[in-house]
Amino acid sequence: MVVPNLTAQIADTRGTMETMTSPEITPETVPSAAEPNAAERAARRAEQAAAQGAQQMRISESRAKAEGRAQVRPTAEGWKQAMGEDGRPQLQFTAKARVSQPPVHLADLTLAERADKLKEMGLQGFRAKQLSVHYFQHYTTDPELMSDLPKERRAELAAAMFPKLLTEVKRLATDDGKTIKFLWRLFDGSLIESVLMRYSNRITLCISSQCGCGMNCPFCATGQAGLTRNMSTAEILDQIVQANRVIAEGGLGGQKHPEERVGNIVFMGMGEPLANYKRVMNAVHRMVAEAPEGLGMSARGITVSTVGLVPAMKKLAEENVPVTFALSLHAPDDELRDEMIPVNSRWKVDEALDAAHTYYVKTGRRVSIEYALIKDMNDHGWRADLLARKLNARGRGWVHVNPIPLNPTPGSVWTASEPDVTAEFIDRLESAGVPTTLRDTRGKEIDGACGQLAAAE
Ligand code: SAH
Repeated sequence: MVVPNLTAQIADTRGTMETMTSPEITPETVPSAAEPNAAERAARRAEQAAAQGAQQMRISESRAKAEGRAQVRPTAEGWKQAMGEDGRPQLQFTAKARVSQPPVHLADLTLAERADKLKEMGLQGFRAKQLSVHYFQHYTTDPELMSDLPKERRAELAAAMFPKLLTEVKRLATDDGKTIKFLWRLFDGSLIESVLMRYSNRITLCISSQCGCGMNCPFCATGQAGLTRNMSTAEILDQIVQANRVIAEGGLGGQKHPEERVGNIVFMGMGEPLANYKRVMNAVHRMVAEAPEGLGMSARGITVSTVGLVPAMKKLAEENVPVTFALSLHAPDDELRDEMIPVNSRWKVDEALDAAHTYYVKTGRRVSIEYALIKDMNDHGWRADLLARKLNARGRGWVHVNPIPLNPTPGSVWTASEPDVTAEFIDRLESAGVPTTLRDTRGKEIDGACGQLAAAE
């Protein structure tokens, strides 16, 4: 598997993201190079941005110094980050080229829509339920196994309702077979990954929502190739159905009981789920819909993790589906977060935290703050204190913090924080009354942990 280098020159880049106008997650960030002075203006803006960046960074450097610690910044090494004319990393909310979506699949449709489609084919509506049971409860799309359907039409029905979405390319296992990373090829050749994990009391699947990612976070392996396209609702769901099939076959560290299946979903695979809002939400609706319309899962077991697309976060709060919400914060100060999470140039730390708090207020669900601890970059004590202050300023009991030691991404100079620094970071948060749990790095050995999914054969 090819794992590219993972750091990027996103330092010295700042300013406003004027090309990102519509927060409804559709803006293109393609700069206009048509005007003759555009290049000059871009250079000037980049210079100004650099000066501003350097100024802000001096502030955190002096704070780090006061603590007797170094302040490491992201620097380029080996791969070039796509930059806009404003001299800042280019965010990509939509695919670069015109891309097509896979053929419509049963899982793209509601039960009523499935019945309509079957009626159009001259069949009775109740067949929709039978087909749905095969897919969502028996995890099969094989016409030979559908003995309750008219024999002469089985093959035609399966072809119409179950176009092949995910083809397994590779399966890597670790933890005595209790963690499996799947590499899937989609209908257009795109590659995506999902990671299945058996814990003592639950089975969790980490799923992808986009082919690639346009958010360009320099510490994450997925972002480097940019965004190819959004995954369809059925492609998102098929990852779960395929995982359930593998579990039912005893493929996940042995079957413990015949009814067991994926109970927890985390949208922490490839992609930014809230940048593919409609299809992701349709998938969530189908996950929680009762069988056989959907998978009959509990919304609480579904975690939607975002880099902080504030308008979409607000929309999610209004959906009335109480999923667990996670914000990938990684830095409490805009100086550093601007560099670590390019989208922070559009929606700042405080805006993202306000939106996360709104999610709690509207749903009553405690939200998670994700924080990848990177040695000497974001793990300073003062940052733990600042994070605690910012969270407590919005109330108590609404949030918990999930630090995770950075997962190694080959080629990067960055490493995980030292254990004593990690412990102190957690301690400072907890002493300030912020519940904090260190997240595990399951799947690290097979590049299946957070931030390591790069989908290469
Ligand atoms: N785009 C979404 C979901 C995908 S990433 C998001 O940003 O939340 C899932 C989680 O893994 C995020 O919290 C992300 O910041 C984190 N992550 C990315 N790279 C990582 C790395 N190298 N080590 C540890 N966590 C990482």
